[in-house]
Amino acid sequence: MSVIQDLIAALGPGAVMTGNNVGARHRSDASLTGDTLPKAVLRPDSVDSLAEALRLCHRHGQSVVPQGGMTGLAGGANPRPDDIALSLERLTGIEEIDVQSGTMTVLAGTPLETAQQAARDAGFLLPIDLGARGSCQIGGVLSTNAGGIRVIRYGQTRDNVLGLEAVLADGTVLTSLNKAIKNNTGYDLRQLFIGSEGTLGVITRAVLRLRPLPVGRQTALCALQSYEDATRLLKSAQLELPGLSAFEIMWEDYFRFNEQAVGLRHFSETYPFIVIIETEGEEPDDDGLQDFLSARLDDGLILDALIAQSEKDRLGFWAVREGLEMDRLLPNLVNLDVSMAIGRLGTFAEDCGAALLARFPQAHVSFFGHVGDGNLHIAVSVPEANEADIGEISRIAYGFVRTYYGSISAEHGIGTLKRPYLSYSRSEAELELMRSIKAALDPKGILNPGKVI
Ligand SMILES: Cc1cc2nc3c(=O)[nH]c(=O)nc-3n(C[C@H](O)[C@H](O)[C@H](O)COP(=O)(O)OP(=O)(O)OC[C@H]3O[C@@H](n4cnc5c(N)ncnc54)[C@H](O)[C@@H]3O)c2cc1C
Repeated sequence: MSVIQDLIAALGPGAVMTGNNVGARHRSDASLTGDTLPKAVLRPDSVDSLAEALRLCHRHGQSVVPQGGMTGLAGGANPRPDDIALSLERLTGIEEIDVQSGTMTVLAGTPLETAQQAARDAGFLLPIDLGARGSCQIGGVLSTNAGGIRVIRYGQTRDNVLGLEAVLADGTVLTSLNKAIKNNTGYDLRQLFIGSEGTLGVITRAVLRLRPLPVGRQTALCALQSYEDATRLLKSAQLELPGLSAFEIMWEDYFRFNEQAVGLRHFSETYPFIVIIETEGEEPDDDGLQDFLSARLDDGLILDALIAQSEKDRLGFWAVREGLEMDRLLPNLVNLDVSMAIGRLGTFAEDCGAALLARFPQAHVSFFGHVGDGNLHIAVSVPEANEADIGEISRIAYGFVRTYYGSISAEHGIGTLKRPYLSYSRSEAELELMRSIKAALDPKGILNPGKVI
């Protein structure tokens, strides 16, 4: 029997889509770089049937691409023509919220926003948060070790995962739904699956760490003269604001472009750098941020500052930072996400920006990001760019990342798009170890081939 016939016999026809039943959304993630449909889509509704599907694919040597919410930005969920897509969309649900331990056990296909809401309903915060929350799934978020704006306070996704269940390439189910914060029993296997983009196993369940739900929230926009001043402000905010939950920087070009795009004007003057500071507290009217900003204005570190007086103000600050209009307004927009030592980001942006503009004088080049995590996003748009130009943008930027000993992916992952540049941030010895781990867990190479390594 063919692999498709075997899968239909094992999972039932409703769980195996082929031909015209395969929807266009299985073609590409949000990078919009996928151009082919998988030969079939599997939609198991239990961990047992998912494991059975992998067992059969393994026996047939059939390649499998795990697909979550398809919001990834690195091409990691894009299929090749002979791949079968394994969709997690029917493996959903919150299985438990343990209020004493502060944990949530959740199936991997659950949308992030659903999990966040369930935590809130139980009086907790699920601190993982990103713009794609409505569509991305817990399994996809874990597989990409997604970041977002709260990393400065709560860490990356991997810091908020206590336990994990994953199915290996041969169908073995590895269940370790640990709830303890400390667990030093040998190798930390769960971390192998977090951030490995579906190349080592398929995540089916997770135990996530919950935190107390903050009550008060304060948000400010601060104008600064230099990148060095931004790092000084970061240091003093970390010292003096215990509730610091976001510290985001925008270079002037980025701020101006996105203010215009959303029709807002916050300051009457133009400043080289703008920072958003957000704090979360236990008290609704905690005015620690106001005192902090007054002191920084007095000592001259901040040139100007605005505190949001309403939710509308706050959303207006974030609308500029999120820059959601850029995709629509800028042709061929490339959004790179890099990281390096916080102290080096300022000169990196100067050098990299100058080189990109020297090569593409008509380009829009702007910088913004999670400076508290050393994570910078680079927005580059070259009118009428062809594929070679887009490749050159990456080569120029990643060349500087290598010189600055940084990482070519801070949070979006490697997928297919950054795979050619992995050696810019990883040594040959590291790559060799990654290949050995891949070969040990997936000797037939059926899990998400062509991605990451
Ligand atoms: C508007 C927007 C905002 C974003 N903001 C951020 C941000 O602030 N920070 C950030 O880090 N990222 C951000 N992203 C990208 C981010 O990586 C994804 O949104 C999310 O993490 C991917 O989840 P997903 O379910 O859509 O996964 P998919 O795109 O479906 O898949 C991503 C990768 O994970 C694999 N995968 C999916 N599910 C599983 C599973 N169960 N087991 C094993 N492998 C699996 C896939 O094969 C693929 O390699 C943003 C994306 C968008 C569109």
